[in-house]
Amino acid sequence: ATPAATMVGTTLGAQNGVLFKGGDVLERAKDVDTVVFDKTGTLTKGEMELTDVVVFDGDGQPTTDGGDTAADGGQLTARDRRSEDDVLRLAATAESGSEHPLARAIVEGAQDRGLDVTDPDDFENVPGHGVRATVAVSGFADGSADPADGDSEVLVGNRKLLRDNGIDPSPAEETMERLENEGKTAMLVARVPAGTDEGELVGVVADADTVKESAKDAVSQLRERGVGVMMITGDNERTARAVAEQVGIDPENVRAEVLPEDKSVAVESIQDGGRKAMMVGDGVNDAPALAVAYVGTAIGSGTDVAIEAADVTLMRDDPVDVVKAIRISDATLQKIK
Ligand code: ADP
Ligand code: MG
Repeated sequence: ATPAATMVGTTLGAQNGVLFKGGDVLERAKDVDTVVFDKTGTLTKGEMELTDVVVFDGDGQPTTDGGDTAADGGQLTARDRRSEDDVLRLAATAESGSEHPLARAIVEGAQDRGLDVTDPDDFENVPGHGVRATVAVSGFADGSADPADGDSEVLVGNRKLLRDNGIDPSPAEETMERLENEGKTAMLVARVPAGTDEGELVGVVADADTVKESAKDAVSQLRERGVGVMMITGDNERTARAVAEQVGIDPENVRAEVLPEDKSVAVESIQDGGRKAMMVGDGVNDAPALAVAYVGTAIGSGTDVAIEAADVTLMRDDPVDVVKAIRISDATLQKIK
């Protein structure tokens, strides 16, 4: 582009809340043929809220009231005293070591219910899978003794996190699928009581996010221009598809359960076929993907790391501005050449 065209384009961009990091990217944006959106914080608001707490009782089955009867065919044990508050307190204590939006929603949800959330004794973040922490357990929320009183290792996360720690997530499968089909992120809560190596599934918690108002418009406007639209996320397949459906992205264009370090690999493989992809993301784990994309676009409210790695920043956090970026590039470079 001529210096004049670059000046016009970057100025027009700035007036529209689209910051181009220079003439090169202004020139490339018009040639983008595929837009790859990150899900959380990009297509969705990233404002998670705790929506569900499901209790698994001593029989390893979900209960609705926490106080088991023999109705589910099992024997009444002390573990059947477990309530939603017990599951939530364990999960929130473990998650209070994490900055992840999923974690923050669990902690806030617990505090809203008046639960006492303390810091875990030991904490480990397992990126893309969940958290592991040591939590002191002293009795059930109803005041009775918990057979696992003492220090428990608590796990909160996806199926793989439990499997990797030798705990079978399958009894919760029906519960998980029901929540995921609603577009929620469901997380398993398990613990390994001190002095044992017997992991126990204690419950499931779910967080929900809201799709941004303009996400659907952005997708349809891109498709009208003949630009392919994809979504990439670390979230599970079912939740990802439910969100994709809400915004009008085809299920076959969804890449789910992508580990943070693999997002850039996914973008590279999309571009291997000769496609010119614009990656749009907000998070630290989007940065490498933003860097390898033909055009990397960061959401303005995103992390500094993402903004630094990107070529374009959208000041308004509005997915429709992705279309504006392409349109401004197109207009300025066609008019002045
Ligand atoms: P995203 O791409 O949506 O930001 P991540 O890669 O951070 O997702 O996480 C992928 C999945 O790992 C989540 O959907 C969740 O199941 C699990 N996970 C990640 N962090 C946590 C956490 N702090 N607590 C529970 N589960 C988590
Ligand atoms: Mg994100």
